[in-house]
Amino acid sequence: QTIGDCFDDTVSRFGDRDALISRHQGLRYSWRELRDEVDRVARAMMALGVEKGDRVGIWSPNCAEWAITQFATAKLGAILVNINPSYRTHELEYALRQSGTSTLVLQGAFKGSDYVAALAELVPELNDASGADSWQSERLPELRGVICLDATRALPGIRSWQTMRQHADDVSPEALAERQASLQFDEPINIQYTSGTTGAPKGATLSHHNILNNGFFVARTMKLDASDRMVIPVPLYHCFGMVMGNLGCMTHGSTMIYPDQGFDPLLTLQAVSEEGATALYGVPTMFIAEFEHPDFEHFDLSTLRTGIMAGSICPIEVMRRVIERMHMQEVTICYGMTETSPVSFQTRTDAPLDKRVTTVGTIHPHTEVKLISPDDGSVVPPGTPGELCTRGYSVMLGYWNNPDATQDAIDPAGWMHTGDLATMDDDGYVAIVGRIKDMIIRGGENIYPREIEDFLYTHPAISDVQIIGVPSEKYGEEIMAWVKLSEGESLDEDALKAFCQERIAHFKIPRYIKFVDEFPMTVTGKVQKFRMREEAVEELG
Ligand code: ATP
Ligand code: MG
Repeated sequence: QTIGDCFDDTVSRFGDRDALISRHQGLRYSWRELRDEVDRVARAMMALGVEKGDRVGIWSPNCAEWAITQFATAKLGAILVNINPSYRTHELEYALRQSGTSTLVLQGAFKGSDYVAALAELVPELNDASGADSWQSERLPELRGVICLDATRALPGIRSWQTMRQHADDVSPEALAERQASLQFDEPINIQYTSGTTGAPKGATLSHHNILNNGFFVARTMKLDASDRMVIPVPLYHCFGMVMGNLGCMTHGSTMIYPDQGFDPLLTLQAVSEEGATALYGVPTMFIAEFEHPDFEHFDLSTLRTGIMAGSICPIEVMRRVIERMHMQEVTICYGMTETSPVSFQTRTDAPLDKRVTTVGTIHPHTEVKLISPDDGSVVPPGTPGELCTRGYSVMLGYWNNPDATQDAIDPAGWMHTGDLATMDDDGYVAIVGRIKDMIIRGGENIYPREIEDFLYTHPAISDVQIIGVPSEKYGEEIMAWVKLSEGESLDEDALKAFCQERIAHFKIPRYIKFVDEFPMTVTGKVQKFRMREEAVEELG
């Protein structure tokens, strides 16, 4: 099945139920209303010449139009190119050029950065065009159309979203249906750039089959149905929002709720309590920000049942707090990566509690796993850390226009090499140890930052902590801790080191401790350890 056909099925089954609520925009759509809008936009894009296989970029924080563009392009067979809202001209040019985007949908501005001005810097022709079709970009020759969500920000060469919608009348519903019927489930429909946690983002090319099935299985594991209401504070540009969120809800008729453009802990808590949400998504740092919020206790979160914590190491203590303090008895942990659509592991809601907080669960349906030694590629025995490799329907078609990187990531037998270290127990439960790149080697000893992070979380004054390795002449690497304290708490270096003495082995005790208010993060809320390392190297001289 294609995404568009699945969407139409959902509309026919759940027509009048809530489909999408965008709270910061004050917009609410039932499935039928959403379908009307999706079809309108799809026909308008067809009228503007968007062909099957064309790349349609979207550069916007979360909003209803994001989802509408997602489903409209899926019906047209156009490949949606998700562009990170934190990109600036340099990265924007790279993504548009690398993907050969011909139509770009963009927000006017976000978080003080002017998207229209940034685009006009790359395409100055937009300024003095005589109409939305009358320009040709020198720097981005493949770009033909630009659509701005914010009508007040349109330049002569840009169409507003509203003006674009009016073109729908030029294409009949039958023509759209014909286009939709011509699509195949295994064709590419999406290019998603990876988070950029470890360096430059890479464009994973995904098919209907990849992401539609992944959304379906993720939601099925949480037992979602049409009565579920899910708060999605994670970014839509990332697979967490667009696949696990939007497609997870769409395949089960559940409601998608966007609390804000970006992540805000207060608006997220408000959305949960005011909308009677049953499910909530987040990366660990978002959940932490929610229960650290001074007004946390004032919200009624009793409707929550399930949700997902994913994206980076999920500390055991944070999981416990989510279950106990947020009532998310059936919360699941997911592990995945953009290249695998994204989820390959998820904890089941009926698994034993200790497995649910300490592991990422078992392998997802219709996929396979093996752990291999980073040294010689042989399969490691249970309990031994090895590189996690996965295989199955969810593995991407490849990196867009980058066969070399694809070959490095996916071996001839179809295994995706994740670059993550994990262990597996006899029952097939997998625990993520960390990224191979983040492993610290101190005096020949392999140290996994996660183990120390999990330990330090047990200190009552610590709200968040990250461990990195910094270069050392004597040991190769030394351990450095970045510590964020809870509101009103104080703690100094000596007290923290004393806490570590006797509780963990001496070689795991951080040599350097830095108290911070924030960590360098991607917009997906992931801590960029490579930036922490750069900063630390500079400071330590
Ligand atoms: P880039 O590849 O650009 O450096 P990225 O790997 O963070 O960025 P994503 O595809 O968004 O980009 O994230 C996938 C990675 O996130 C995984 O490879 C893994 O390192 C980490 N991850 C995801 N879920 C979990 C989890 N539950 N526990 C630990 N790590 C996780
Ligand atoms: Mg990655």
